[in-house]
Amino acid sequence: MAMIIERKELNLWERLYLPEILRGLWLTSRHFFVNMFFHTAHLFGLFKRHRAAVTTQWPEELRPLAARFRSRHRLTTREEGTPRCVGCMLCETVCPAKCITIVAGEHPDPNVEKYPVRFDIDLGVCVYCGYCVEVCPEDAIRMDTNILDVSAYSRDQMKLDIHELMNPTLRKPVPECDLKFPHKCALHDGKLTGSWERVYGPGEKLSRPADQGTELAAR
Ligand code: SF4
Ligand code: SF4
Repeated sequence: MAMIIERKELNLWERLYLPEILRGLWLTSRHFFVNMFFHTAHLFGLFKRHRAAVTTQWPEELRPLAARFRSRHRLTTREEGTPRCVGCMLCETVCPAKCITIVAGEHPDPNVEKYPVRFDIDLGVCVYCGYCVEVCPEDAIRMDTNILDVSAYSRDQMKLDIHELMNPTLRKPVPECDLKFPHKCALHDGKLTGSWERVYGPGEKLSRPADQGTELAAR
């Protein structure tokens, strides 16, 4: 049902214009001097329980965020730089927006079943619910980058791939691929690239022959 709100008629005092201008100036000045008083008092350790307003110069300056604030995603890594993700698909399954795409590959370490050869999140669709972080059994995905400015000029730029997820400072277009493990990467024609030797060192037990250029098997 539509609600009609009558516009309030100005009284004579308000129609005089100048008194309302002075009232606005008095209000602004009062905020200014009260804030200045409390900021000065805080410098001397006084009135600490009274908060004083501050202006945050965003985007140059980021205001303090709560510890549980959910910002842009990142993939956590092991010591050797590979993703902690074991490709279990729990996050992809639980995601209510269906914006996570994972392709899992076989990990050379027998103690780790799989790893993501492809991991994409479409931030244009994500609702920042944080379910992917909560459900992950490996603490492999977090939303603690404190990156809030996720705007882009196209929908494609809103899709984070494994490079941007492992290095949150990267933004599209990613200039080159520096990931030292085999993965499917648009910068290499969507083929698996790299080798585990680069990660574990030549001749180590966990290494396997380089699979440079190997086509990714469909999951
Ligand atoms: S935050 Fe929610 S919507 Fe976004 S990727 Fe994670 S599970 Fe999906
Ligand atoms: S990020 Fe976590 S939940 Fe998602 S596939 Fe990897 S290990 Fe599983």
